[in-house]
Amino acid sequence: MYKTHTCGELRAAHASQQVTLAGWVHRRRDHGGVIFLDLRDRYGIVQVTVNPNLSRETLEAVSNVRMEWVLQITGTVQKRPAGMENPKMETGEVEIIAGSIEVLNPAKTLPFMVSGENDLPDENTRLRYRYLDLRRDRMTRNLILRHKVVKFMRDFLDQEGFIEVETPILFKATPEGARDYLVPSRIYPGQFYALPQSPQQLKQLLMVAGLDRYFQIARCFRDEDLRGDRQPEFTQLDLEMSFVQRDDVLAMVEALYTALIPAVTPHKKLLASPWPKFSHHEVMEKYGTDKPDLRFGMELIDVSDIFAQSDFRVFQSAIEAGGVIKCIVAPGCADYSRKEVDALTESAKGLGAKGLATLAVTAEGLKGTAAKFVKPEEAEAVKSKVGAKEGDLILFAADERAIVNKVLGGLRLIFRDKLELADPDMMAFIWVVDFPMFAWNEEEQKWDAEHHPFTMPQLDDLSKFETNPGDIRSDAYDMVCNGYEMASGSIRIHRSDIQLKVFQLLGLSGEEIEQKFGHMLEAFEYGAPPHGGLAPGIDRLVMLLADEPNIREVIAFPKNQTGRDVMADAPSEVPQKQLKELHIKIA
Ligand code: ASP
Repeated sequence: MYKTHTCGELRAAHASQQVTLAGWVHRRRDHGGVIFLDLRDRYGIVQVTVNPNLSRETLEAVSNVRMEWVLQITGTVQKRPAGMENPKMETGEVEIIAGSIEVLNPAKTLPFMVSGENDLPDENTRLRYRYLDLRRDRMTRNLILRHKVVKFMRDFLDQEGFIEVETPILFKATPEGARDYLVPSRIYPGQFYALPQSPQQLKQLLMVAGLDRYFQIARCFRDEDLRGDRQPEFTQLDLEMSFVQRDDVLAMVEALYTALIPAVTPHKKLLASPWPKFSHHEVMEKYGTDKPDLRFGMELIDVSDIFAQSDFRVFQSAIEAGGVIKCIVAPGCADYSRKEVDALTESAKGLGAKGLATLAVTAEGLKGTAAKFVKPEEAEAVKSKVGAKEGDLILFAADERAIVNKVLGGLRLIFRDKLELADPDMMAFIWVVDFPMFAWNEEEQKWDAEHHPFTMPQLDDLSKFETNPGDIRSDAYDMVCNGYEMASGSIRIHRSDIQLKVFQLLGLSGEEIEQKFGHMLEAFEYGAPPHGGLAPGIDRLVMLLADEPNIREVIAFPKNQTGRDVMADAPSEVPQKQLKELHIKIA
């Protein structure tokens, strides 16, 4: 080994020991003859003192040393004189009095500093030199946290009798609602493997195989438009269990997360235990979204009944068209300026509203854009129904139910950020259950699976296949935290007759079903156990635990926001010869 100790481990107890360290020069300071070098490795930083009494060669070598050079240093640990300790450094009680110094490798001037959080370049520069970016303490900590999360999951599930099984990356299309990445076959001209959008089919086949409890830290590949915080490949804790019902799966995962969070991030709090469970319908009505942030209230309240006879044109026309009137109460925002309300109105319009009506509850009475259209008795009824106090601002949306929910759900999040209503250390896990099984695709005039086509419809609703597929609920569930969907899962179809019915409703022809999923239907004919599972995203969980704004910060080598690897420059062109081997011509 190049070293006897790590840079982070030395303490007063090591005083007078001779040690050899190896690492990077984090900082260098010259103090009239004495040179201080902070030496860094993954474990920490320690101060090395280079006194002028060393050999000429050593001093000469040190005089050239710059930031990020790689050194091996042998020296003696010395307790720092009283008053000279540095409480900001974990090794701040000691310094190393250098005896010999060897330069293992010099370094060019780095394109950016890795020693602080300030002066970071733009993200593409960080990604172009990701191996330098990862030297930063914060990034190293993120990777360590990620390791701990995954290790905890593995240990926990092992204890619970799960076995980890790897499934193929070169496979067949496994639909999760995205486009597939295809890999051309050299051996079979014109044929392609698909990269799995998830191991969904394979984990179900492992249940047919009798493995009972499976998990995998699985990479998933989805060729989606890159809006928002998405990566073309991402990691899931993929999990499946046999002979279980919905609540068995939820209890297992809830127990895992309830143990995991305090173990890896003791400062994070859980909202409630057991986790609250909401139906899809309930969260849509109360929070306007299927992934609500429960760290704060501000629920959507239906006031349609109060305004049934309203003189206000906007409210009247919404009711006449079969829509609803709902509102949220922004605490202490009654004094918002015209400009602030205009900005909110713009946001509401961006979310699909035609406008935004407001009532401000002030000491001088009601103000706001709806004030002069609302009858006194309506105002009183609203105030008492929503519990608005003096100083509050009530914001109304009146439209079709779906639009109203979306608008107020969106405004709710704007207020969360503006008023800092959500505790950043709170992890508000909830379950959302009873999703609709199918969603009508207006563009293509067909039904889509709301989760994926292997999800079990609720047996009570089976008769609606012929009459009203939109009303069929599924045995699907989502794990939601702080406004993010953290996992999706479901009890699966294990009977080929039901599976066939679902494929048919999704508009697949007999031939397509056979070609795409024949192997699944066939497997179900050979004794498939009832089974179910889910797949929590790992990137997003670590992002939340690390208080990072996006998942790229917790992935070692992510693609940038336009889907490129800017370090290796991928995707890139390939030699003609390779294309030819793959029977491919670029159009
Ligand atoms: N395969 C699903 C997904 O990736 C999760 C599951 O149903 O287990 O979303």
